[in-house]
Amino acid sequence: MKEKKDRFPEDIIIHCGENSCDYLGSVSVPIYQSSLFSRKRGDTGYNYTRINNPTTEAVEKKLAELEKAEGALLFSSGMAAISAAIMRYIKTGSRIVTVKNVYMPMEGFFTKYLKDKFGVETAFFEAGDYDDFLSAMEGGADIVYLETIVSNVFSIPDIERICTYARERGARTIVDNTYATPIFCNPLSLGADIVVHSCSKYINGHSDLVAGVLMSDAETIAETRHWERAVLGAVMDPHQSWLLLRGMRTLTLRMKQHMENGIRLAEFLQSHPKIERVLYPALPGHPQHELARKMLSGFPGLFSFVPAGGIEKARKLFYSLNEPEIGPSWGGFETIVNGPGLGLSMEESKRTGIPQGLIRISVGLENIETIIDDFQTALDALG
Ligand SMILES: *Cc1c(COP(=O)(O)O)cnc(C)c1O
Repeated sequence: MKEKKDRFPEDIIIHCGENSCDYLGSVSVPIYQSSLFSRKRGDTGYNYTRINNPTTEAVEKKLAELEKAEGALLFSSGMAAISAAIMRYIKTGSRIVTVKNVYMPMEGFFTKYLKDKFGVETAFFEAGDYDDFLSAMEGGADIVYLETIVSNVFSIPDIERICTYARERGARTIVDNTYATPIFCNPLSLGADIVVHSCSKYINGHSDLVAGVLMSDAETIAETRHWERAVLGAVMDPHQSWLLLRGMRTLTLRMKQHMENGIRLAEFLQSHPKIERVLYPALPGHPQHELARKMLSGFPGLFSFVPAGGIEKARKLFYSLNEPEIGPSWGGFETIVNGPGLGLSMEESKRTGIPQGLIRISVGLENIETIIDDFQTALDALG
């Protein structure tokens, strides 16, 4: 990847990829709500919104620079960006190596859809265990698919070491960097070939849209723009791009606050006798804490914890919290909890590595005292 002089993320978000002089002095990028760009007065560089669009492009330029990529392509959802990245590299009979507990829809995509249609095989490894990665690579691989921080269990793969090994064996590495955001980690600088994000989470941060982005070198972006984006067609709508830009304006501010709030709540829970454990790479007790500190420049306010006393106690605590919303998404302004370990049998827990009773929390932008008080009350009532 070409070396670029690093600008501060705050300055990239405010200024990069937009120029008020191009828009009659408008300081807010206009929404070019047009499918088509006329050639009547010559070529403007734009043609048709499935290929490119000035509003979408302003956001892509910011995201590319934040992620230290040569280019970015916005898609209509995170899954559209991720499936495009897979389609870029996959061939009939390909072998994929990925992390255990990978984002659930990906597991189905790999082990059912791609297996049944194209004979693709997938091997899983425990993200925090490099030897397990080496074993998974024994059958070879065309694609290594990673998450910067792994869904629900919050283990961390050594991206740089894995990318180096994968490259030596002719495999391409794709990293889902949604959890860390481009503010806290840049996997392309660690050797990844493609980085993808769901912008529906922290990047937009307002729980009001679904979007995705794919970032890579210029050649991969040109190929992907033509094939996986224009031909498969899951392009971002200009109005959605503008909403995403509006959400992104505060990304650095929000991440600082999410981190501060996340650490405060995690420390409170960790020191509480009715909490068995907290799974959060920001805490010194986490098995990959040192790696996390090396690889990430900050910690998102997202983690899991396991209440003491079994699954029934965990369920009771989960439903007696008043402040958080309940649901599967995360990364928005609101605190939200999800209970992936609340319905797990002992056998399922063993197979997935998700502890029974595990609760995931995305700590929002409320005053953290309010959230801690809510937990205190719920924990006191637990008996
Ligand atoms: C939400 C999510 C996705 C999918 O993104 P959508 O925008 O919902 O399509 C992919 N990876 C991770 C880690 C996510 O949390």
